[in-house]
Amino acid sequence: MKDYPRRSFLKTLALGGAALKLGPFAWDAFAATSGLPIETTASGPVLRRTLGKTGLTLPIVSMGVMNADVPGLLRRAYELGIRHYDTAAGYQQGRNEEMVGRVIKEMGVRDKVIIATKEAVPEHDRMLSTADGKARFIENTEKSLQRLQMDHVDILYYHAVDSVEHAHAEGPLEALRTLRKEGKTRFIGISTHKTVDVIGEAIRLDMFDVVLVTLNYTMAHDNGILSTIERASKSGIGVIAMKTQAGGSVRPDAHLPTPLPPVSQTALLKWVLAHDFVTTAIPGFSTYEHLEQDFSVASNLAYSEDEKKFLADKSFTALAEFCQQCGECRAACPKQVEVPVLMRSHMYAVQYGNRDMARTLLAGIATGQGLEACRSCDGCSVACRNSVQVARKIGELKALTRGTALYA
Ligand code: SF4
Ligand code: SF4
Repeated sequence: MKDYPRRSFLKTLALGGAALKLGPFAWDAFAATSGLPIETTASGPVLRRTLGKTGLTLPIVSMGVMNADVPGLLRRAYELGIRHYDTAAGYQQGRNEEMVGRVIKEMGVRDKVIIATKEAVPEHDRMLSTADGKARFIENTEKSLQRLQMDHVDILYYHAVDSVEHAHAEGPLEALRTLRKEGKTRFIGISTHKTVDVIGEAIRLDMFDVVLVTLNYTMAHDNGILSTIERASKSGIGVIAMKTQAGGSVRPDAHLPTPLPPVSQTALLKWVLAHDFVTTAIPGFSTYEHLEQDFSVASNLAYSEDEKKFLADKSFTALAEFCQQCGECRAACPKQVEVPVLMRSHMYAVQYGNRDMARTLLAGIATGQGLEACRSCDGCSVACRNSVQVARKIGELKALTRGTALYA
């Protein structure tokens, strides 16, 4: 069994030690020893990595646009050196793609950036025949391209795939092959919160160029997840990391009576990028302050003393209550409620402050397995194998949605 966290931590410290001693002209030497090419931008040197067999080289910090609704934030991200924007058809009912398209067009930088978008297949479309499923996926992608005002994207993901069966559904897979062949996308990818199962299947299918996976410090001891992602990378698939901040910048322990030391967002991001099989991360910052903070990592992966202390104090993992979407708790619910989806919705609503995304997710749950099933249930019997307080979070979701159709 590999000791991933320790190996990565020591490796980064070694790189960090070298980087900390270097003067302003020693970045080339640092890049040579770390294997990372650098690019000098207005904000200084930026480390880049190659995205698997796509051959694209990207700054190690990118922008997950999901939580952003301020066009200026995308412009500032470009000024700082960000060159990869990740959006999706489902974000803000398409308005997120519209904003990305508008800003990129206004800046006139389409040929200088990598644009990724994602198409999910909702529950009601999963029963379609292969031909109809393919046609629906292509039709939805065309709508995305219209919103983006682009004739193609660089990466098109089959989005939020939550099972092996869903991963090899022929309709979406045929659509992706066709869209790549027609030049509507340069590369195709798959995004999932079920890393071990779905990424394992993606490797077997041998058709994806990129995978978008959840990876953060709360998974430091999960060798199954880490080794699966590394296996994808070794097979030539480019790896992009999401949910790197384990729930965003709002303290996950805000409900606790005693204030705790602040979460080190930079330490969390550096920990993810210390894994050299990750090409780039897409933190979902929504303020200028958090953009600057996250992008500072792109020029220096060395841990500061405070960051080392933060990572050494293991309490964060328990306090983060990050749901890894394993689904193991579902069996304990007498109504088979989609607890992982409820937990993800809670994260979007409470920690990301993205109520829109939470509503979309809740509305997509099959009837009878969503929050409405919890309404008449006074004592939640579901226990998490990790540290997620499922009953408390369901209570908070109920309070947030009371009086809406989601809690009818
Ligand atoms: S509140 Fe009841 S119905 Fe909802 S998840 Fe918990 S046990 Fe299941
Ligand atoms: S709440 Fe816990 S057991 Fe349930 S899906 Fe999330 S991590 Fe797994």
